[in-house]
Amino acid sequence: MTWLINIASLLGAFIFMEGFAWFMHKYVMHGFGWFLHKSHHEPRHGRFEWNDLYAVIFAAPAIYFMWLGSPEYNYIFFAGCGITLYGLCYFLFHDILVHRRMNHHVRPGNRYMQRIIRAHKIHHKNMRKENGKAFGFLFALPEYDVKRTDE
Ligand SMILES: [Zn+2]
Ligand SMILES: [Zn+2]
Repeated sequence: MTWLINIASLLGAFIFMEGFAWFMHKYVMHGFGWFLHKSHHEPRHGRFEWNDLYAVIFAAPAIYFMWLGSPEYNYIFFAGCGITLYGLCYFLFHDILVHRRMNHHVRPGNRYMQRIIRAHKIHHKNMRKENGKAFGFLFALPEYDVKRTDE
């Protein structure tokens, strides 16, 4: 049964992180934390942006949970793994796929992937702190679906 609890903990942490990231993005990064996030809504000069510091901040609880759950490797450890896995998926989606910080030719044909990419591009249409839209990352509502002209 322990493995079931561990998997539930991992998945739970992963899903929780999307909600947490949405909340942080909407109320902190576009709130008092805008001084760091602002760099992400402007053209980037050089390899890094101040906004990257948020990744370091988010990594802290992941490391802490994994440390706390060791060496038993219990559900707390797996919650830390869930946060880490979220961070990895977030990075691949947000920094690589959408913002192309590495050269690649990946063009997802998958409808859900197209939806979340479009939602984040809509988020970036707004360069300012206020009146933002689409604060989620790996989840977006169907209203962000790419409209097909043949439908
Ligand atoms: Zn933003
Ligand atoms: Zn972005």
